[in-house]
Amino acid sequence: MSSKARNLAADVGEATALDSTLRPLDFSDFEGQPRVRERLEILVGAAKSRGDVLPHLLFCGPPGLGKTTLAGILARAMGARFRVTSGPVLERAGDLAGLLTTLEPGDVLFIDEIHRLNKVIEEYLYPAMEDYRLDIILDQGPNARSISLNLPRFTLIGATTRAGMLSAPLRSRFGMVNRLDYYDVLTLSSIVKRSARLLSLDLDQNAALEIARRSRGTPRICNNLLKWVRDYSAVHSSGQVDRDVAVKALEILDIDENGLDEMDKRILDVLLNRFGGGPIGVNSLAVAVGEEPATIEEVYEPYLIMEGFLARTPQGRVAGSRAYTKFGLAVPPNQQNLF
Ligand code: ADP
Repeated sequence: MSSKARNLAADVGEATALDSTLRPLDFSDFEGQPRVRERLEILVGAAKSRGDVLPHLLFCGPPGLGKTTLAGILARAMGARFRVTSGPVLERAGDLAGLLTTLEPGDVLFIDEIHRLNKVIEEYLYPAMEDYRLDIILDQGPNARSISLNLPRFTLIGATTRAGMLSAPLRSRFGMVNRLDYYDVLTLSSIVKRSARLLSLDLDQNAALEIARRSRGTPRICNNLLKWVRDYSAVHSSGQVDRDVAVKALEILDIDENGLDEMDKRILDVLLNRFGGGPIGVNSLAVAVGEEPATIEEVYEPYLIMEGFLARTPQGRVAGSRAYTKFGLAVPPNQQNLF
């Protein structure tokens, strides 16, 4: 069950068939993130009126919040081609050169997980971003020489779950940094309803709210849960999907009414019951729950912190008052002022 729940909760960067069916293509279909949307629409309007390309943009935020979707919407709005790659895929300078030299004017190049780009490749990107120029070093040692290729004007859109891991020189070359936040339940419920329509599923408002509540503030999770509810209802019920059917379907996945899945609950359980509520370092916590420290930091913690289940302090991770309450424990006095 845990791997299934995890797949539902964090298909990091995975372009599933479901994703492509439900992915909004225009700003009008993209729900939530009003501030970011507003800024991007202004940039598109301005670039079009000048006949220019968009500036390079960086999107930060936890997985599944719409970074890739927004990049695709921008390319479409500019009438540009959308080229997608990711940091870990670009292993050698030649990989990047191959990509950059096939760009056409105006193309939008999307680099997912840009914080995982290796440093050598990152340095090739600087002149490409700044001056639309690629400096290639030929040979090594005393014979080394560099040739410079002109590139068409293009837009680089980088996405990262770890903005803090981006080097300062790379970060400073983006014209704008946009941080995506978790979505509120109402916005998620309208995403669920739109997706249900696209999947021809008859789903009532309460069922949509129930799915939204258990989606950890994340559209990708709400779409995955919706698909599960659809499969469940195809087997166990007929007609309209109501709250009852949704709850029964979601209970099978061990996702509770706070949207916490098995790993979230294990983290809190270990923190409270093995480490006395903390403080405890993320590495020890990761070993105790059998997960990578980076995954704990990027995927699980942001939501637990936002919801008041956990806090990061200089001494380590500590359980929040909501965690004590959830596990039926009394909140210790020194924890009460923390949130
Ligand atoms: P990220 O790149 O941040 O990991 P994606 O852009 O791949 O996330 O989004 C995952 C899925 O969630 C998309 O396929 C899309 O269907 C859905 N989605 C994301 N943001 C929104 C939104 N604001 N409105 C509607 N659907 C969304």
